[in-house]
Order: sequence, then C-alpha cells, then structure tokens
Amino acid sequence: MTHPVLMVVDDDPASLEALDRALHHRYERDYLIISETVPATAAGRLRELRAAGSPVAVVMAASGLTAMPVADFLAQAHVIEPGAKRVLVVPRGGPAAPSLRVPVPLVRDRQAATPVLRATTFGLIDAHLPAPGTVRDEGFHRVVGELLEEWAHDAAPALPAVRIIAPERSARGHELRDLLARNSMPYVFYAAESADGQWWLRHAGQDGSVLPVLVMYTGEVLVDPPNDRLAAVFGVASLPAGTVDVAIVGAGPAGLSAAVYTASEGLSTLLLEREAFGGQAGSSSLIRNYLGFPRGISGASLATKAFEQAWSFGAILSIAGPVTGLQPVAGGFTLRMADGGESRARSVLIATGVSYRRLGAPGLDVLLGAGVFYGATASEAKAFAGEQVFVAGGANSAGQAAVNFARYAQQVTILVRSESLAARMSQYLIEEISATANIDVRTSTRIAAAEGAGKLEALTLMNTKTGSAQTVPASALVVLIGAVPHTDWLPPQVARDEHEFVVTGPDIPDAGDPAARWALPRPPLGLETSLPGVFAAGDVRHGSVKRCASAVGEGSVAATQLTQYLHGQARASWPRA
Ligand SMILES: Cc1cc2nc3c(=O)[nH]c(=O)nc-3n(C[C@H](O)[C@H](O)[C@H](O)COP(=O)(O)OP(=O)(O)OC[C@H]3O[C@@H](n4cnc5c(N)ncnc54)[C@H](O)[C@@H]3O)c2cc1C
Repeated sequence: MTHPVLMVVDDDPASLEALDRALHHRYERDYLIISETVPATAAGRLRELRAAGSPVAVVMAASGLTAMPVADFLAQAHVIEPGAKRVLVVPRGGPAAPSLRVPVPLVRDRQAATPVLRATTFGLIDAHLPAPGTVRDEGFHRVVGELLEEWAHDAAPALPAVRIIAPERSARGHELRDLLARNSMPYVFYAAESADGQWWLRHAGQDGSVLPVLVMYTGEVLVDPPNDRLAAVFGVASLPAGTVDVAIVGAGPAGLSAAVYTASEGLSTLLLEREAFGGQAGSSSLIRNYLGFPRGISGASLATKAFEQAWSFGAILSIAGPVTGLQPVAGGFTLRMADGGESRARSVLIATGVSYRRLGAPGLDVLLGAGVFYGATASEAKAFAGEQVFVAGGANSAGQAAVNFARYAQQVTILVRSESLAARMSQYLIEEISATANIDVRTSTRIAAAEGAGKLEALTLMNTKTGSAQTVPASALVVLIGAVPHTDWLPPQVARDEHEFVVTGPDIPDAGDPAARWALPRPPLGLETSLPGVFAAGDVRHGSVKRCASAVGEGSVAATQLTQYLHGQARASWPRA
C-alpha cells in the first residue's frame, strides 16, 4: 500500500533540514516524507501525486518562503489536494513572515495583522506551529499527530463505519457524505463508476440501478436510505419512553453545553437534533477564537468532544429528525417529531440556532471561509489589513462592519441592491461612511459571480439598472444580509421579536400578543421564555452574541436555570436574573 505523504516546503536549507529530520525521526515507517526547497517544484510534485492517486496527508510550508508568498503556495496546494492538512511553520520565537506581511503604508491606524491571523482568517491553513526545536519536540509532534488523526478520520479511516457507493457527482451522495462527516462517522466513498465501486456493488448484491448504496460496518446494505434510517442504524434515533427532566432542541454549541451541565447535575436529559451534532460550529473548518485552543479547533472536533462529554454524563442524544411542535401539557411539555414520534419533558430548552441568508451567485459557496464570510464579526477586521474588502448588505450591521473594516483595509466597498443606503441604515452611520475616505458605496448592485483558486480573488458585480457587469479584484466578501432563526415550529405562547428571535427574561414584552405574555406572579428567569418552563439559549435568542463561546456560556447558564426551575425554587421574590 502507498504510504501517505507528509510534504515540507522551506527555501532555507537549514530549517528545512531540521523539519525533515524531526519528521523522519517520528513518521518515516508509516509516511513518505518529501522535502522541497522550491514551492513551484513542490506544487508540481503534488500534481504528480494526485495524478498517481497517492494520498497526501499534510503539507507544511515555512512562513518565511521567499520564492513565492506562502499564502499563494498554500492556496495552490489546497486546489491540487483539497484533503491535505495545511500547516504554516513559523520560526521558533522569530519575527513575522516577510511574505505574509502587509505593506506598511497600506495599514492605517492600527498594528498590522499577524501572518497567522491572516492565514487563518482567509482559511489558508489548518494549523500553525513553531518549527521543531529538537527531533523529540513533543509539542510539535502532538500537533502533527492531531492533524494526521483528523486527516485519517476524513480520508482514510482504519475502520470505516460506512462505505458509500454513488455516482461521483451525485447530489444525494454528496449530502450523505456531508451528513456522515458532520456526525463524525468514518466513511469511505467509492465512485460507482470506479473498479472499487463496482466491486462493492457486486459484494452488496446490487446491480447499481438505484444509488447511493451504503454498506454498513455490520454488513447491512441500505439502498438510498432516508437520513433518519441511517441514524437508526447507528442507534442515535430512538426516543426514550416516559418523561425526561429536560428536553433540549438543537445540538449546536448551546444545546451540547446545556446537555453536559444538566446531565452532570443529575437531570435526565434528552438532546434532540434534526441532522448533525455541532450545529453551525460543526461546519466551521477552524474555530480560532474559542478559549483554550490557541491554534484553533475544527468544528467537527469540538462537536465530537462535546457529544462524547454529554453522552458520558448520561444525556440521551437523538437525531430523530426535526422537532415540529411543542405543546404544554399537565406536568410539562410534549415535543412532536416530523415522523409523528413524540417525547415528554418537564422542561424544554430551545437551542435551534439560525441560518444565514445566502447569496446564490456562482463560485461563492466553494470559497466559503476562504475569503467569503457570512455574518463576520469584528475579530476578522485586523486580518483584512491592506485588502480590498466588500460588504454585502444595506442594514446597520453592514454599515458598522464596513466602518470597522475600513480601519485596516485598503478599500471597503458596500454593495446594496437598493438605490440608496437610506432605506435600512441609520443616518449617523450613513454620515460616518461618507466621511470615511476608504469606503465606497455601490448601490443598485448585485454580485453575479465570485472567482479564485483556493481563495477569493475577484467578484463580478452587476448593475441592476443598466445590466452592465464589471469584474473587480477582491480578497474578502463579508455577507451581512440577515440571519433567520429556526423558530417556525414554536407555539404562539413563546414570544418572539420582529425578526422571529425568541425573547427571554427581562425582554419579554408586557404588551403584544396576549398568548405570549408572561402569566405567573414570579418574574421569568433570565433565559426563560414567555412560556414558563421553556428556556432559550444561543443564536436563536433575541440579543444573543453570535459566537461559539457565547452559545456555550448561555447553554451552561440555561442549565442552571433549568435546574432552579425544576427544583421548584423559582419564586416571585427572585430578582430578574
Ligand atoms: C461557517 C461558520 C463559521 C463560524 N466560525 C466561528 C468562529 O470561528 N468563532 C465563533 O465564535 N463562532 C463562529 N461561528 C458562529 C457559531 O458557530 C455560532 O454562533 C454557534 O454555532 C451558535 O450555536 P447555537 O448552538 O446557538 O446554534 P447552532 O450552532 O446554529 O445549532 C443549532 C442546532 O439546532 C438544530 N436545529 C434547528 N432546528 C431544529 C429543529 N426544529 N429540531 C431539531 N434540531 C434543530 C440545527 O440542526 C443545529 O444543529 C461560525 C458559524 C459558521 C456558520
């Protein structure tokens, strides 16, 4: 069998040798280690390996490459071998890499982005690490080991739970792979047209007329199964009989965190998820601002660890499809599932998160996280130093983001479909934008296409009045056209704001729909909704900070309040939390 490749690229022969030695010392029995000094030659080797079907596990590039900007090399490597983990190797305690540095005159009134921040923000690396000090640098080897584990999990699992046989470009095949990956189920994919695919079809007793075919680790064969059938095979679709103390709807960071804390407090906890553990965070290739993970952590890894933690405390986790209804009944609530199943709980936590409205232009989806961002936060601003940044959206959030990015970016352009900003943006922001020299506003404009090899490089903008199109260089597009909370399944007793986010505690309105008014003599707890005993946490909540750590924090606070509620301690004398 071909050994997977570990590639190292550094045009400083001394540091290349140190890296090469450390890798050979630890990995040469199981991996083929290739060292290159010339980035273009390394890219050529990657192409040859790809053509020969040889797997590449990790590509490491020194931050100080001089022949070519390391960012360009890593973007190229990703296009050639998308599955390989990309590592930026920085000098031990050394200065920032020259090739990633921003030209000083372009940086406005703040310190330049660090190379690492820029590379992570633009999705160019999976990790950064200092060059090894010695061949036994355990800190270095720990990170390499983790990357190899992640790579093997996705690309070459030792014990695949599922073998999927589907046409190479089938939408359903892609959907199933995505579902399994997001639930951390190791799988192997075989194109139905390939020799291996044909072998597995024969082995499964299938003629291939209906695809995808799934061969499970148990030997069971499933022909184009619905998602909940797949969950049932893995034993994560069952609903417990009887009434649990807490039902948590949504297994993103908020729901998983609440499950860990309620279960560890000894409450019987049921976590109901419609598709995959981890929520939005699970789809992030690298969460880089989560406390305690200085090199970032992949969303899938965080979700898997959180899932295991909740499970180890005794939480019951079920992917039984979406919850479609919630009804108060004597002693608690009934939750209705899409397939007609029901669950009973004494209390409920709504942690169903949001979906960001998407732009449909060709080319955008493949560049997600590699220059295209939905709902970006202020933490990205510094990484945009010296760049051409576009902000799509005409509301205050877009205006505030543009003003913030303009402190670092060379140029910020706000793109709006309407004829002016006045329709949806506050006057004070419009004035601030017009007073900021490096912000442009393009009205009556829509994005027609995005382009880039491995990272965003250009946008095609269409004037909706004249129909004229223009392709402009772009390094970042931040889309702020709104988030839609998953609340359409809630009953009218759960009050929501004008955008359908759930309101809690002191925000519950005194006026409005009488069905959604607080009806008890005691005040609601801080994360309690207008329906006593039903709480909300995370992105779905009105006023929430849309961030992983905030969702986790709210999940833990909700767990405490659920415990208080269930212990019957919520009394009228309590202050509002
Ligand atoms: C691509 C991407 C990258 C991100 N990167 C970062 C980052 O680097 N740092 C950071 O701090 N934040 C990041 N975020 C934001 C962060 O992921 C969210 O703020 C966080 O996930 C919110 O957690 P949540 O649990 O409230 O909701 P979600 O993560 O949205 O989880 C909600 C869950 O509820 C489930 N659900 C919805 N409706 C139902 C239903 N009816 N029945 C059952 N289940 C249901 C959904 O399937 C989902 O799993 C990123 C978001 C995205 C999309």
